[in-house]
Amino acid sequence: MMSALKRICSGLTLLAMLLATSAVTATERVVRVGIYENPPKLTAGSDGLPSGILGDLLREMARLERWQLVGVRCEWDDCLLALQSGDIDLMPDVALSDERAKLFEFHQVPALHSWSQVFARRGVVIHSMLDLRGKRLAVLEGSVQQEYLRKLLSGFGVSSVLVPVRSFEEGFRRVARGEADAVAANHHFGEVEAGRHDLVETTLMFQPSRLFYATGRGRNGDLHSAIDRHLQAWLDAPGSPYLQTLKRWGAAPPQPRVPAGFWWGLAVLGALLLLALVFVGLLRREVSRQTRVLRASEDKLSNILNSVDAYVYIKDSALRYTYANRKVCELLGRPVEAIVGHCDDDFFDAATARRLRDVDEGVLAGGERQMMEESSRTQDGRRALTVLSVKLPLRDAEGRVHALCGISTDITEQRQFAEEIHRLESYDSLTRLPNRRLLLDRLQQSLSGDPVAAGGGALLLINLDGFKSLNERHGHAVGDRLLQQVAERLIGCAQAHDLAARVGSDEFALLIGGPVQAPGLASQALERRAHDVQQAISSVAYDLGSMRYQASASIGMVPLGGEARAGVDAVLKRADLALHQAKVGGRNTIRFFQPDMEALIGARRALEAELREAIASDQFLLHYQPQVDAERGLIGVEALVRWQHPQRGLIGPDTFIPLAEVSGLIEPLGRWILHAACLQLRTWNADAAARDLSIAVNISARQLHHPDFVDLVLDTLAATGADPTRLELELTESRLVEDVDGAIAKMQALKSRGVRISLDDFGTGYSSLNYLGRLPLDQLKIDQAFVRDLLIDANDNAIVRAMVDIGRSLNLPVLAEGVETAAQRDALVQLGCLRFQGYLYGKPVPADDVLESWRAAVAA
Ligand code: C2E
Ligand code: CA
Ligand code: CA
Repeated sequence: MMSALKRICSGLTLLAMLLATSAVTATERVVRVGIYENPPKLTAGSDGLPSGILGDLLREMARLERWQLVGVRCEWDDCLLALQSGDIDLMPDVALSDERAKLFEFHQVPALHSWSQVFARRGVVIHSMLDLRGKRLAVLEGSVQQEYLRKLLSGFGVSSVLVPVRSFEEGFRRVARGEADAVAANHHFGEVEAGRHDLVETTLMFQPSRLFYATGRGRNGDLHSAIDRHLQAWLDAPGSPYLQTLKRWGAAPPQPRVPAGFWWGLAVLGALLLLALVFVGLLRREVSRQTRVLRASEDKLSNILNSVDAYVYIKDSALRYTYANRKVCELLGRPVEAIVGHCDDDFFDAATARRLRDVDEGVLAGGERQMMEESSRTQDGRRALTVLSVKLPLRDAEGRVHALCGISTDITEQRQFAEEIHRLESYDSLTRLPNRRLLLDRLQQSLSGDPVAAGGGALLLINLDGFKSLNERHGHAVGDRLLQQVAERLIGCAQAHDLAARVGSDEFALLIGGPVQAPGLASQALERRAHDVQQAISSVAYDLGSMRYQASASIGMVPLGGEARAGVDAVLKRADLALHQAKVGGRNTIRFFQPDMEALIGARRALEAELREAIASDQFLLHYQPQVDAERGLIGVEALVRWQHPQRGLIGPDTFIPLAEVSGLIEPLGRWILHAACLQLRTWNADAAARDLSIAVNISARQLHHPDFVDLVLDTLAATGADPTRLELELTESRLVEDVDGAIAKMQALKSRGVRISLDDFGTGYSSLNYLGRLPLDQLKIDQAFVRDLLIDANDNAIVRAMVDIGRSLNLPVLAEGVETAAQRDALVQLGCLRFQGYLYGKPVPADDVLESWRAAVAA
């Protein structure tokens, strides 16, 4: 109601003002000035014209400019509206704001500096914005302060009640009456009015502003230039109307005056600042001390990390390096700045980077410490290394894994060392072939691998025939040369999936891997492979430096797949059995493992034990078989050993001689045989009918190659008193070749004493005129195999003819054994063979029965 009345009043005043304007003379510039009560800045004088600081200044300017001022009293809002509409020309005391600059025009030089300040009822404490919380604050409605305070309070999150008032005067009154706690007012006003209302000024000051005389937009611009000119002139001039005016109204000089409370506040602030500075100084000192300590310990840590012989690094959750020590820099060949921020992809080859990433991600995801061996290769392939890495997850304060720390120790050398050791442990130093250990590893792999893949494979055990005696006779250097050359030949036999190995002194192995084939084909293929190996080892003589040597090997073979598939031990045992069988079968023999071999071996062991016992207890006897010359009749006999077994009766030599040879028992047995035969010679020497008979004694290779063989024969002859010229030694052709030169020397030594030598089993070995001619022989014995089919097989006939021719060319008599029929004999005679042995002339019989059986044969 009050404000409505006021509006009507101001409306009437405006009307009066308009009437007054029309009455002024045309010579003077009429300026209608809005006046609202805001002492001491602006107030209406008793003459109705503007007064107060800004009013008086305007009066002085009007005087000088010959303006005729017309005062128009209005409330603040209405004043501004009237200015906008052009109802008044000029409005003093307008603070410049962006908003107002759009509505009004302002001159340049501020007429007055001002700020707002909060005045409070005595006893209400307000030091800062925050103290306004819950308080009622009177503000001039529509004023700049109102807008400003609203924003400020909401910005601080302070809720207080803004009580709108139409004038500062009203605001002060309401605070004085307790309707508000404080009032925001222009400080010029407050300073004057606070005391009157018993209010105190607070230290809460805000919104410094510059006050102008404003005009409506596009109107009365001439006023501004005049106002600026006067203000400019007055501001710095001592005693100017400006300063006098300020003085008169009790306000501060041009620069905004600072209230006493402000100085106090400033002093307090200063003290606080000083305190703060002292505090900051102390803090800074402490910080720099701590920094020094930190840096020292960081340096120390960095020194340690840089001097340890390990790669130390930290990677963040994206696996970028955030730290790398010296070793890492050296490895990657870059300074730490070129490492930090990068991932392994930038340094290592793709495969390495992938491997490292997998492990790192595992550590980050699992949050567990991990230890592993890593091998890496740098991008340029320059360095490959193997490291033992420990990787730890790093956690933040909340326990989340945010990085990992890795410590990797270079174990490349140890690895290489270990590999070298492994190589030494796995390879034979003489032949450089894998040794037994490696063979077993590989065998294990083959057997535990794909059963189909293993199906085509086999294990061959290869034993050199007669190696022991070669070694004994010619020394280890010669033996070693043979082993090395055999190894080379064996490697030549090994195909892509094979492994050639040396598994014992004179024992080699070939592990055949390879594609599986149908069972029949597989065994055929394996047999071929075994034959190839046998051929490679025995077909060409070895150059052992001081001598040439013809070697041969016995081969035992076990297929890895199929029914025979078994564990490593079982396979080895089977291969051993097969090899044993091959050995027993005589030199240069191949034997496939057969399931019954085990039983056979068992039986053979038992037999060997019995044989040993038989030698000790003299269970042997000799039978003699006639040897006949076509012209001279009975010329001698061949001594053939028999075993008088206490339970099994008489056992033929085929059953036990091979076993005796393999087991070495042939040596004591051979000595007994030789001795018994010589004794018989001695006996027959006393018998006129038998005096001219010679006795042929079979000598096994092992006996012949024994270093003391010559002495043995000569000693036996001497001991028994037998006539050396009646003793004939039958040497098997195939076993002579192991050491032809050695054999020749022995043969010659014996021959010089009158002992004759016959080549047994002629045609079954490596008959070669090359060395046959060098052997000091007295007779060739055609093997009975050729005689058996002489009449049926044209081949055998041709062979026998060739052998007879050889004998003739060597000037040696030829004896055919196994002659059972007269037809065979006649055929032989026709071919030029004139000596015979066989059932046609008598079976082997005890010595006492020889002559009788011979007579019976002749009679028949
Ligand atoms: P060998 O030296 O070739 O002896 C000839 C073998 O042929 C003897 O068999 C003999 O009984 C047999 N034989 C002789 N005439 C005929 C015939 O007309 N038809 C047939 N079917 N066989 C005939 P034996 O006595 O069983 O001897 C077998 C092998 O045992 C010998 O073959 C020889 O290699 C070895 N042996 C025999 N006695 C001794 C010995 O005292 N010392 C050594 N180291 N080996 C011996
Ligand atoms: Ca013989
Ligand atoms: Ca023979």
